[in-house]
Amino acid sequence: MKTMTAFEKQLQIEKQNRIAKTHCKLCKHLIGNKPHIVFEERYFHSVCLKKKTNIALDR
Ligand SMILES: [Zn+2]
Repeated sequence: MKTMTAFEKQLQIEKQNRIAKTHCKLCKHLIGNKPHIVFEERYFHSVCLKKKTNIALDR
């Protein structure tokens, strides 16, 4: 496996920071460093999406 260059690492950090400042479409809170799912340019917490799916299945 190829090691990441400092530049690539920097890009990844910037991408993470951008995601962290994005709001979850379900709970409206910041994504932060929580596990998340990207769907069509929209960001969701994994837990929020799971919760929503469970609610949908319950009804
Ligand atoms: Zn959320």
